[in-house]
Amino acid sequence: MDGVGHAPTERRPEPLVPGLVVHKYGGTSLGDVERIRKVATRIQRTVDRGHKVAVTVSAMGHSTDQLIATAREVHARPDRRELDMLMATGEQVSVALLCMALQHHGVRARSFTGAQAGLLTDGVFGSARILQVDPTPLVRALEQVDVVLIAGFQGVDAAGELTTLGRGGSDTTAVAIAAALGAEECEVFTDTDGVYTTDPHLIPSAAKLACIDYDEMLELAALGAEVLHPRSVWYARRYRIRIHVRSSFSFQDGTVVTALPRAQETAMKTDRPVTGVALDDQHARINVLGVPDVPGVAGRIFGALGAAGVNVDMIIQGVPGAGDSRQQMSFTVPRDLAGDAVEVVRPLLAELGGEVSADDGIAKLSIVGVAIGSTPGVAGRLFAAVAGIGANIEMITTSEVRISVVIPKLLAEQALQAVHDAFDLGRVAGE
Ligand code: ASP
Ligand code: MG
Repeated sequence: MDGVGHAPTERRPEPLVPGLVVHKYGGTSLGDVERIRKVATRIQRTVDRGHKVAVTVSAMGHSTDQLIATAREVHARPDRRELDMLMATGEQVSVALLCMALQHHGVRARSFTGAQAGLLTDGVFGSARILQVDPTPLVRALEQVDVVLIAGFQGVDAAGELTTLGRGGSDTTAVAIAAALGAEECEVFTDTDGVYTTDPHLIPSAAKLACIDYDEMLELAALGAEVLHPRSVWYARRYRIRIHVRSSFSFQDGTVVTALPRAQETAMKTDRPVTGVALDDQHARINVLGVPDVPGVAGRIFGALGAAGVNVDMIIQGVPGAGDSRQQMSFTVPRDLAGDAVEVVRPLLAELGGEVSADDGIAKLSIVGVAIGSTPGVAGRLFAAVAGIGANIEMITTSEVRISVVIPKLLAEQALQAVHDAFDLGRVAGE
């Protein structure tokens, strides 16, 4: 078992372009003309070493945010189709400019929109999923040029409508292109030099990881580590593509995201079952008290929340005392949806009985590691570290590769440091 046993794996096609290297450059790496030139130089160097290169780009700097802000000036709730039409222009600017910068140096290069590059998606504007990538246009182009550049984050649906893949979605474009062309690796150039044991802005002793398992990275990405779009990791796991996350400002190795049987063994051997710790203070807790303890109540409450588009994360239900016919439950929701959640639940409780309230003074601290489920004592170490700084644990959830606790937000950063220390994560340094 390599920690990804439950994942459906699809066969990656044989390499379609010999010596192909796949790069992805994030918005910061393309923030201005000077940076675009630097990226062009790096790509040129790769071509000079005899490679063909498929490059996916994000929009320059914060231009996607700016486009959205402009849209909101024109309409408070912009139509999703039109918003996609607008947002997709960001990547078209950077892909064309980067292509020109390469051509300026005599590199044979051609740019593509998502549609031109064969990226077929479903029709969900704003968070479309890639259904299929036709490799033909890129393979044909690479017979004539050395570099193909693809506008990230966008595709086309079966009806010919332009779609976008959700914020941060260029990572997913890059991995999908790698998979379609049969590449084993996708290098993601970004503004950090890799994946860390925890947020280095909060914990200076955080260490860069040399490698991390897909499952661990999926958990961290889902917990809000913004280094990779969660769907890109899911895609990479499915097609067994290594993602090398690295800095576009240096030539040092970053962090390799891959399937690592070795990581698990090492974790067991070195008594370091935890790979990373994440803190999320973007959730609020909804408390539902005094609802009837009869079948169907939870189904109605969570059904209504789902129908209202409120996604629920952690859920706990109290254990009622003997003869107690009332139940309590708590769950967490994204903080900006807490008001919606209360509004959805309140009318139900008017009928069922019970009260609802929201509390946004909470934070979720999670430890992640593929060996967590198979290593005794990990939960105890976590809870002791949290107790050591006087924080009360209000909720707990676990999966095979993660344990999360909800604690008071005021103590969150202190708890993060304590847990990072308790699992000796500062020691991974360097590598
Ligand atoms: N430009 C898009 C965004 O800002 C996609 C990306 O950067 O990956 O979300
Ligand atoms: Mg990104």
